[in-house]
Amino acid sequence: MRSPTIANIQTEAENRILGTIEGDPDGPTVIVVTGIHGNEYAGVDAAQNIFEMLDGIYPKINGRLIILRANLPALEHQVRYIDEDMNRLWFPAIIDQVRNTPEAQIESSERRQMKQLLTVLDGIERGTDGPIILADIHTFSAEGNMFSITNTDPRQRRLLSNLHVPMVFGIEKSLRGTALGYYQQQDFISFGLEGGQHENELTEYNITASLLLLLHAVGCIEKQYVAKIKEFERHLRSHTKHLPVETELVYQHIIEPGDEFKMRPGYSNFQPIKKGEWLASDSDGKIIAHTDGYILMPLYQNQGNDGFFIIKENEG
Ligand SMILES: [Zn+2]
Repeated sequence: MRSPTIANIQTEAENRILGTIEGDPDGPTVIVVTGIHGNEYAGVDAAQNIFEMLDGIYPKINGRLIILRANLPALEHQVRYIDEDMNRLWFPAIIDQVRNTPEAQIESSERRQMKQLLTVLDGIERGTDGPIILADIHTFSAEGNMFSITNTDPRQRRLLSNLHVPMVFGIEKSLRGTALGYYQQQDFISFGLEGGQHENELTEYNITASLLLLLHAVGCIEKQYVAKIKEFERHLRSHTKHLPVETELVYQHIIEPGDEFKMRPGYSNFQPIKKGEWLASDSDGKIIAHTDGYILMPLYQNQGNDGFFIIKENEG
């Protein structure tokens, strides 16, 4: 007879692994992480779409696809996090501590979730050759276009250029403790995909399209879904053609506790801004742009520690 504890653990693991597709073992390994932030469920739905499209198709995919849900209690309550931001915890010291502490003794909900997620991620067997790719899916609170958070590693750049999604460099260095940054250090091809506004109807479609193009670009699918790939490519190209292809972070506005940060209304992703423009206010007064550029992820929700980012077109 199963004890209730074991039953719970098994259900947790089943809930966390949204789907696994095993194809030709020599191909790439693609891991899709969704729901690190629990109010960002468009990514979960998009990943589910991809799983349903590819499960049982013939010819089989090349390599393997693993789709995960990260922060189950936050997803259940549709909040960014319960105790702390799960995408600011991926420091080697915290990871070691989480690995070495029994789950019942971990006080933070997100660290318990991290421990369970690590167990799954550690157990993923890679193909004999072929890259390992981790796509971390997010959405944001403002209006505006999707983008990817990546670094200038040529492998990442080459792969992501196939997605027709604007690339933003440098965020992974300035946002400390992200899962994507940690897995970059483990030599994964690891990037963040910010698919659109949380509640926008287009967001799920954007993410579904990008994920299928990713699987095509990396060589998981070739002959399957050719018509669909063309449709998704057309959509993403037309959606992003007026945007800079590669941009770089030049400023991150960090919110400290008690700041009473308030973004001025009406800003959206990739909206051009001018030096001297009044962007937001906090307890110290007006927050003014120190440079020209584009605004990224202006914060229009209560939970979150970054007020906005400023990016510039990459000239390098
Ligand atoms: Zn997020």
